[in-house]
Amino acid sequence: MPANRTVLLLPGDGIGPEVVGQARRVLEWVAAKRRFAVACDEDLVGGASIDAHGVPLTDATLAKAKAADAVLLGAVGGPKWDALPFDRKPERGLLALRKELGLFANLRPAICLPALAGASTLKEEVVAGLDILIVRELTGGVYFGTPRGIETLPDGSRRGVNTQVYTTGEIRRVAAVAFELARKRGRKVCSTEKSNVMESGILWREEVQKLRDEAYTDVALSHMYADNCAMQLVRAPKQFDIIVTDNLFGDILSDEAAMLTGSLGMLPSASLGAADRDGRRAALYEPVHGSAPDIAGQGIANPLAAILSLAMMMRYSFGRDDDADMIERAVGRVLDSGLRTGDIMQSGKTKISTEAMGTAIVEVLQGLAA
Ligand code: NAD
Repeated sequence: MPANRTVLLLPGDGIGPEVVGQARRVLEWVAAKRRFAVACDEDLVGGASIDAHGVPLTDATLAKAKAADAVLLGAVGGPKWDALPFDRKPERGLLALRKELGLFANLRPAICLPALAGASTLKEEVVAGLDILIVRELTGGVYFGTPRGIETLPDGSRRGVNTQVYTTGEIRRVAAVAFELARKRGRKVCSTEKSNVMESGILWREEVQKLRDEAYTDVALSHMYADNCAMQLVRAPKQFDIIVTDNLFGDILSDEAAMLTGSLGMLPSASLGAADRDGRRAALYEPVHGSAPDIAGQGIANPLAAILSLAMMMRYSFGRDDDADMIERAVGRVLDSGLRTGDIMQSGKTKISTEAMGTAIVEVLQGLAA
């Protein structure tokens, strides 16, 4: 079968290569058994690239990432590179990728699988069956706005300044992503800001509403102040389907929502760019966790966040919802069967390695496809 799609794997550092290795096995299974014509390339990013090339992301790797239909990244960073100056650290490789690929929409699902409902710090009935998606604006807002800096005032005291700034274009493009995704889910979006105290929040609310009224009247839109949203996420998270919000609030709310589900090793993410004329978007998929240097090289990391990131790739970059569903179902079945990596281990369950988890997923997929 000729390969007409390309995926670039960037395993990175620490446990990155271990978990991406298992995601690659799942991708290869989909390619072989589900007739997905894909060419898979692999390259270095982060500390691994610094060691080989002196920089966290080479121009050649960036060019490959730009040419690929989708990128799957493991994680970057680790103590070996901690002493490097800020602009040469492994994390710069990831930031450069996000910037160069124009990834303005960050998707973070918070799904509470029945087998892990007991692992949440919240009551089981509050989180069991939870399936929400946070869409965070990733390239604008207070993290990038100018003026910014720290200045010394005439009286010798100092003043720190950051600027929250959004244009209609920035708001509308991320809201459009949320509305499009809503059509594939529960057709329900909650937009979150602080329009009670911030002009940028007023603009955010107005533009999201305007876009909905113009082009997405089939999607129910509600608005909520970000502080209330933070509260509602721990009080009754299942009231939400999609939450769309800015960079700052999204940073906080997506971490909060993530913890509802219990474990860092289970959390996937996707970052999407603008669609071109053919509907093709730049896209980077990665587990939320870092390189976990404390367990790297031991073969005990949980590969499920990376495998679930691959499922997101199938859904959002390749429109292969059936494959995505199948991978997600396989993860649920394997957990139901009692297999666990150390990070999600519970009494009475069976502790297995990173590789054994990958094998279990492929075996269940085999059964589901039969
Ligand atoms: P971390 O996510 O790497 O680890 C936090 C804790 O969770 C550790 O105890 C780790 O063992 C555990 N953990 C994380 N993922 C796991 C998995 N898949 N399976 C089992 N256990 C897992 O965060 P950290 O310790 O703050 O950061 C370590 C390094 O990773 C730092 O250099 C940091 O800069 C980097 N980092 C990178 C990214 C990224 O690449 N996107 C994100 C966060 C942190």
